[in-house]
Amino acid sequence: MLYRTHVITSIAICLPILSYVGDLNSIAVGAVALGALLPDIDEEHSYIGRKVPIISITINKIFGHRGITHSLLVFAILFSLSTYTKSHILGGIALGYFLHLFEDYFSDAGIKWFQPFIKKDFKVPEVLRYKVGGFKEHIILIIVICILFLEINRIFYFRIYIPIVTTIFNIVWNIIGGIGYSLFRII
Ligand SMILES: [Zn+2]
Repeated sequence: MLYRTHVITSIAICLPILSYVGDLNSIAVGAVALGALLPDIDEEHSYIGRKVPIISITINKIFGHRGITHSLLVFAILFSLSTYTKSHILGGIALGYFLHLFEDYFSDAGIKWFQPFIKKDFKVPEVLRYKVGGFKEHIILIIVICILFLEINRIFYFRIYIPIVTTIFNIVWNIIGGIGYSLFRII
């Protein structure tokens, strides 16, 4: 995914979760957006890579693109740090980081969730995959922007009601929020 798709998709997914957790504010959302950019620091031409070229080139030389930065290991470290320090900002970054990996999981190349221990690519069924920067990614972006509009509508009580769409949206909001909330409680 291109950086803007990562950021917008991650924000759209995190809003119901943050709302359920009771931590829905601009700092938390900003932290999620930052976390959603971080894994691609291993690519010097990525949005975040261009900001810190020396770090980016170094990580790329050692691990390659979608190397160690695209593993659950780094997420686990970030998440542990956030729970240890009780930092909401680190928690937001960890959530955004995980969402980036989850979104890459649906790409053509898939993701090596368990590196450096297991070097296997994990992919979703072909029909669900998208090509980075391709047609499907643009469709995903348009759908996600529509969802984001509905979420903002809900958060700010605009009460714009679109039959069926609002009903389905509310169900999805509660499912994502509920799953996110349960995971936070379990962990
Ligand atoms: Zn990535």
